[in-house]
Amino acid sequence: MTLYLFDAHAHVAAAGDPPTPAAPPLPGAETVGRLICGVDPADWRDVNAAAWSWAGTIPAFGLHPRSVASVQEGWFEELERLLTGNPAAWLGEAGLDASKRGLAGMDEQDEAFRRQLRLAKRLRRRVNLHCVKAWDRLLAALDEEYLPDGRDGFIVHSFSGPDEHLHELTERGAYFTVGPLFSRRESRRDRGRAARIPGDRLLLESDFILAAGVDVSGELVYALRWLAAARGEDAEALGVMISKNAGRLFHG
Ligand SMILES: [Zn+2]
Repeated sequence: MTLYLFDAHAHVAAAGDPPTPAAPPLPGAETVGRLICGVDPADWRDVNAAAWSWAGTIPAFGLHPRSVASVQEGWFEELERLLTGNPAAWLGEAGLDASKRGLAGMDEQDEAFRRQLRLAKRLRRRVNLHCVKAWDRLLAALDEEYLPDGRDGFIVHSFSGPDEHLHELTERGAYFTVGPLFSRRESRRDRGRAARIPGDRLLLESDFILAAGVDVSGELVYALRWLAAARGEDAEALGVMISKNAGRLFHG
């Protein structure tokens, strides 16, 4: 039997940029689609090109919190234009990041994030979220700007928050992506977190910078095995469940 996998959070390499090295594909698994997330206006152009030329690719356009400080005026109009021109596109990667110095301040990040959530709600788009150490603010922004009438079913990528927030996000309809970032660094904390995500909300991600045509199924299978071990579940059965989750969210 072949396991059909969906990479629910990836990026695309700009011309001349090195893609992330990926393990070779494994027999019995195949990546049938991917959500490619854009992070700033220059990147959106490459995401758009990939979506048109690479079968199975769903584009997402968003301003990453790490891009807020450097973005030029007019980005929001460009974002709206791209989303309107791509009815299947998601909003993302967007969110809040309090982990590093040198990023835009939290009020400025929050403002850019809320603007994007309002746009996603108005255009009825799902969103792909990035959040580090700003969970209360993220929940407040979602509640005030996106839920409950925004398109149900959004993704929190590489969830790193405490259990209470896992629970609150799940209640609000969140899906969670897990990938090599977790399976490669092998921490007990990640294992515990991955074990507590409800099975019907799990998705796989590479979060790699991909060159068009690259099959990351090898990486996704390693992440799936790690996830199954963390949860004490059978990898194949878990893989089938995750494929169903992806089908529901991306093609339902
Ligand atoms: Zn990402």
